[in-house]
Amino acid sequence: MLLREIASLKQNPNPLSYNEIPEPQIGEGEILMRVTACGVCHTELDEIEGRVKPQLPIVLGHQVVGIVEESSATTDPTGALRRVVTTGQRVGVAWIASACGKCEHCLSGNENLCAEFKATGRDINGGYAEYMKVRADFVHPIPDSISDSEAAPLLCAGAVGYRALKLCNLHDGQSLGLMGFGGSNHIVLKTAKHKFPSSPILVFSRNPSEREFALALGASWAGAIDQSPPKALDAVIDTTPVWGPVGEALKRLNPGGRVVVNAIRKEESDKEILMKLDYPSQLWMEKEIKSVANVTRQDVREFLQLAAEANIKPEFQEYELKDANQTLLEMKQGKIRGAKVLRIN
Ligand SMILES: [Zn+2]
Ligand SMILES: [Zn+2]
Repeated sequence: MLLREIASLKQNPNPLSYNEIPEPQIGEGEILMRVTACGVCHTELDEIEGRVKPQLPIVLGHQVVGIVEESSATTDPTGALRRVVTTGQRVGVAWIASACGKCEHCLSGNENLCAEFKATGRDINGGYAEYMKVRADFVHPIPDSISDSEAAPLLCAGAVGYRALKLCNLHDGQSLGLMGFGGSNHIVLKTAKHKFPSSPILVFSRNPSEREFALALGASWAGAIDQSPPKALDAVIDTTPVWGPVGEALKRLNPGGRVVVNAIRKEESDKEILMKLDYPSQLWMEKEIKSVANVTRQDVREFLQLAAEANIKPEFQEYELKDANQTLLEMKQGKIRGAKVLRIN
């Protein structure tokens, strides 16, 4: 499914076209993957509509699961690579497709901040296809207990949510707030319950059915975005596209608390909330706002391991590859419960 040009879904409800494209030829250090499943992400709407600028034409999809069909990986200083790229092995690819490996960010474990960072489905062809090629050192083995369709959403919503949770610096027993309760935060809730079993988790959503869903998954409280929770918060993860929830979260924070914004972009519509921040109640006492910039390979691997151990599985619906346009449209219209996955091969 090929994206040839930027368009709003309103003007063009079928932005992707179903094409025969040549099978990718791999170079040194790359593998060829037969794709079996690929998650559909909100970032793909941003790519199609031009808010995130993809190289064109491109095959979208950055939550890719498949089988290694061919491998030309020859160098492996650490030994880790050889284990990963056996032909026939089941692997996943996340948003991070390449980084330089030499700069200060790469060397300090924050390769997601590398200036030479390349993204799957933005800079290189992704998983909305029968085959894709990728650098062998940027694929991740999928634990046996997780199916292809379960693994796909874990590779983006799950792994980025996991990084956001790490950036909260939470200790067991401290309270965690979740602003918004969609594809990512519902997995964060399951992860947080496993990692921080004594921590109360308070969920804020404007959508009553999401609040019910949160309580069913074990949230200790759920309310509207501007509602007062029964407890102050030590950290908050915000996944909404607007600023109102950030302002509310800052009011609810304990001293030294942190708001982690897990969003690739924020809308301009209510930006004046930032200009009106009340210093004594919203920022003083060493409160912080921090953003999340996608994921590192280590985040993805740690999270897949944790998901297998804690039996963390996303809610998902499956679609066929040729129905990718329909799937994106449903996502745009907000017809979602959990994640959407394209089945391929
Ligand atoms: Zn994504
Ligand atoms: Zn680098």
